[in-house]
Amino acid sequence: MIVSHRSTGCRSLPGPRYDAPVNTKLIDKFGRHVDYIRLSVTDRCDFRCVYCMTEDMTFLPRREILSLEELYEVARAFTELGVRKIRLTGGEPMVRSNVMSLIERLGKLPGLKELLLTTNGAQLDKYAVALRAAGVNRVNISIDSLDAGRFARISRVGKLDKVLAGIDAAVAAGFERVRLNSVVMRGYNEDEVLDLLDYAIARKLDIAFIEEMPLGEASDHSREETTCSNDWVRSVIEQKYRLLNSAEKTAGPSRYAQVLGHDSRVGFISPVTHNFCADCNRVRITVEGRLLLCLGNEHSVDLRAIIRDQSRTFDDLKQAIIAAMDLKPERHYFYDAEHAQPVRLMNMTGG
Ligand code: SAM
Ligand code: SF4
Repeated sequence: MIVSHRSTGCRSLPGPRYDAPVNTKLIDKFGRHVDYIRLSVTDRCDFRCVYCMTEDMTFLPRREILSLEELYEVARAFTELGVRKIRLTGGEPMVRSNVMSLIERLGKLPGLKELLLTTNGAQLDKYAVALRAAGVNRVNISIDSLDAGRFARISRVGKLDKVLAGIDAAVAAGFERVRLNSVVMRGYNEDEVLDLLDYAIARKLDIAFIEEMPLGEASDHSREETTCSNDWVRSVIEQKYRLLNSAEKTAGPSRYAQVLGHDSRVGFISPVTHNFCADCNRVRITVEGRLLLCLGNEHSVDLRAIIRDQSRTFDDLKQAIIAAMDLKPERHYFYDAEHAQPVRLMNMTGG
C-alpha cells in the first residue's frame, strides 16, 4: 500500500494539455494558461493536522501578513489579468479575523466566475449560510476519519462532531457538490477509505482522496512510511464499488470517477505517484504575499514588497504578476533525490 516513490513513473512533460481559456494574460513559458489562484488568507489554524503542521507551531507576526485590503487588491489584480477562479485557503481561512468582510468583497469581483473555499469545517455550522450569501460557489471540507479518537489523533486538537456539524450545515445552506478531502495515511486511517466513501455516498457528497505530500518535515511520522498511493486507494474502493472515469475537467488537480449507481464522485489527487504538471493552471499566493509558482518548488515573487512600496502602482503589481509567469517551473520532483524538496509546511503554502 505504500507508494514506491522512486518508481512513480513521472515523466517529462509532453506539452500543455489543459484546455486553455482565451482571456488570461497569464501564460507561462511552457504555454500553460493560469486562470486559477489559491489565496491563503492566514497561516493559522485551530487544528494541528499531523501531515500539515508540527505540534508547536510559530505563526507569522501580524505585520508580515497581508491585510484584508491587501489580499483583496491581489485578488483584483489577478482577476483583471484573466483569473476566473479563486480558492480561499490557509491555514484555516475561517479563523482569520473578519474574513467574512473579505469574502463578501471577493464575491462581487468583476470577472470572477468561481469563488471556492477549502476549510476544516469546524466553523461551518456558524458560517455556512453567510458564506453562501457572500457568493462562495463551493466548499471543500477536510475530514480524515469518522472515529472521534482517531480524528483527534490526526488533527491533534480537532473535534470530529464540530466537523460533522459543519458538513451538515454546508449541505443545509444549499451548497452544491460539497466535496470532502481525505488524506490517506498508513497507520492512521488507511482502513477507513470505504467508511469515508460510504459516508459521502449516503449524503450525496463528492470525496477526494489526497496523497500525502512531502511539504516540510512531519514531526510525528516519516512521510515515506505513511504515504498511501491513490492506485491502492482506488483498488480498495473497487472491491465494493464500480468507478467510471470522468472526462470532466475541473481545472483543478483532481481526476474524478463516478461511483456507478450513486450521485457521488471520487476524486484522486495523486501528486506523488502521478505527475499532472502539464495541466497545471494555477499559482498560489501565501499570506505573506509571496506568489508561489509551484506547490513543489520554491520559485516565488514577493508581491507584498510591491504592494507596500508607495512608489509602485497597481499596474506595477499586475506587470510583476505577468512577468512572474516566466518563473513557473515545468514540474515538481517530489521524492527525487536529485532535486531539493520543499521545506515549507502546507499551512504556509496554502493547500
Ligand atoms: N484548513 C483547511 C483544510 O484543512 O481544509 C485549508 C487548508 S489545508 C492546508 C488544505 C488541504 O491540504 C487539506 O485538505 C489538507 O488535508 C491538505 N494537506 C495539508 N497538508 C498536506 C500534505 N502534506 N499532503 C497532502 N495534503 C495536505
Ligand atoms: Fe489546519 Fe487544514 Fe492544516 Fe489541518 S490541514 S492543520 S485543518 S490548515
